[in-house]
Parts: sequence; structure tokens; C-alpha cells
Amino acid sequence: MKKHLLPEKGNFYKANLHVHTTISDGSLTPEEIKEVYKEKGYSVVAFTDHEAMVPHNDLNDDSFLSITAVELATNAELTHGVYSYRETCHMNLYSKDPNKTVCSVYSKSRLWPAHAEQYMADEMKEIDFKRTFTPESMNEVIAEAKKDGFIVSYNHPVWSLNHYPFYSKLKGVWGVEVYNTGCARNGYPDTVQPLDDLLALGERVFPLATDDAHGKRETMWDYFGGWVMIKADKLEYSAIMTALENGDFYSSTGPEISDLYIEDGVLTVKTSPASAIEILTERRASKRVQAKDGVLLNEAAFDLNTYIADSAHKRESDPPAYVRVTVTDEHGNKSYSRPYFINEL
Ligand SMILES: [Zn+2]
Ligand SMILES: [Zn+2]
Repeated sequence: MKKHLLPEKGNFYKANLHVHTTISDGSLTPEEIKEVYKEKGYSVVAFTDHEAMVPHNDLNDDSFLSITAVELATNAELTHGVYSYRETCHMNLYSKDPNKTVCSVYSKSRLWPAHAEQYMADEMKEIDFKRTFTPESMNEVIAEAKKDGFIVSYNHPVWSLNHYPFYSKLKGVWGVEVYNTGCARNGYPDTVQPLDDLLALGERVFPLATDDAHGKRETMWDYFGGWVMIKADKLEYSAIMTALENGDFYSSTGPEISDLYIEDGVLTVKTSPASAIEILTERRASKRVQAKDGVLLNEAAFDLNTYIADSAHKRESDPPAYVRVTVTDEHGNKSYSRPYFINEL
């Protein structure tokens, strides 16, 4: 029986899930952000201004949807004055309710784009949740945010100077940035390592490619580099948020994944022209199909029957079995499916 891993029905909607506007430290107004992203074929933008959650439902139309969100930054305390090595933890909270203006983990005392305060709802200004740069405190933020109706992403771990001893303790994150345009173009390429590490620890976490755009219109150096293709029935807030939450999407810096299904244990991936298509797993069972003689691929098939059968021998202490797909185009751009767990194959 054919089982679609990306939903068979619905449309793909191109989304940027990370952007800053003049509400915090971005250069473009929310209206301008809508304009430039629509021009490039995006249908969805999550407005993730620092520390200030401001709904932009007024920007929505038949072909554009704004997601209500906020980026919370929690810096390690400075112990050496302005010494530049300073770890931080940035998380985006995406609201399942478009009209949300409050989150219980907001910290007034951590508001650093001071002018952002004027955009915040009065109830939000009342809240001063004590956040500190520890995994325990970050886990409280994640848990409270989830209770409040948010899904939470863990942003740019490499730029944040985060390492395994820190991020391996995080619980309940929905997405991890594997590509962040602003960071990558600044010399901090995010990697898939935190994603696979968290998966190995049993977290159900999905890869995200985003922009984190801040730049001016003249250069737009940190725009349009990483995005998410959401498959949903319609461009409507709850349909899009449900698709995100369920993982009905893939992330990309270039190639398209048009279809992904499994039939009789054989996984088929259909793509735009690709130089390589890979499956990656939690154990040493990854496989790569490579273009030959300059003829690019549009499809690859991977027989997973042995992998699936062997997974029955997994011990309690072994990482959960999963398969995820990456596609690389001839320019080195990549797309990333979410992990599909053994019970889905
Ligand atoms: Zn950030
Ligand atoms: Zn950001």
C-alpha cells in the first residue's frame, strides 16, 4: 500500500518562519516585509520580532498569511565585561491563535529593543518571567509556551555558541533551525548535528530553514535564503499551524521535494533537478544516490525493508529509528524532509 509521507492532497505554501521588522531591530516595516516576500512567491511569513509579539492579521489576504510569533533571547550573564564570547539561547514561539498578544514567559526585564515596548499589549508589559541561560530555565520556557498554545523552535544553535551539554537537555522543542540565512551569510553555518542529536535522545523535532532577515532594502543580504514548504488544504491560519505542528512540510535552501511516499517498504523521493538524494537514519544505514555523467536526478528510490526489519531488534536504550531525506542541487543548496519514525514507515 502506498503511504504518502508528505500529504498527497493540498497545496504547497512557501513560508519564511523567521523575520524581524522595525518593531524590533529589523529594517523593513511589516507591510514592506509582506510586499517583498509576496513578490518572491511566499504565501506565509511568521513575524518573529524580538521580545514583542504583535499580531499582523490586518496584512492577511487571499494569498498571504501572517503568523503571530515572537523571538525570545536569553543571554548568559556577562562575567568579563564586554568580552565577546557569550552564549545565548534564542527561541521562536509560534502561536496557534492568530490574535495572541500575551505569552506567560515574556520577560520585561529582558526587553532590549527598548522601542519595542510601545508595540506591546498592556497585559504583556505586566509579565516578567525569570529566564536564565540554563537548560532548566529554557525547558520551563518551552513547557509554559506549549501550555499557552505555542509551538517552539530552537534557533541558530551555532551562532548562539551552543554545544551538546546545553542543547541535549532541551525538552519539547518542535523545530530546530538547520539553516538560518542571516547566520549562514555571516559565517555561522548552522548544521544538522543538533537536530540528529535531539532525535537520538528521543525528541520529536523537525528541521527548519529560515531567513532571520533584518537587512535593509538596498542590499537584502539576509533574505530569501532558507524557507519552509508547507503542504496544507488551504491558506488559513489553523490549517497552516496544524500542518506545521504535524510536520507536513519540508525545509529548503533550493531544491523542491514534490513527492515523498513509501510503498512495500520502498521509499520514493521526487524532486526538482538534483545532484544527490540521500536518506539519513539514526544508525549506520544512510544511503546516497548521486547524479552520474552530468545527468541530474528527479527521483530516487530506497528499499527500506531490511532497515525496517532490523529495527525490530532495537534495544530500549537505542535511539528511536527514523529516516529523513535530504536533496542537494548542483549549486550545493539543500532541502530537508522531517524525520519519519519507524511506526510511520
Ligand atoms: Zn535569534
Ligand atoms: Zn531572529
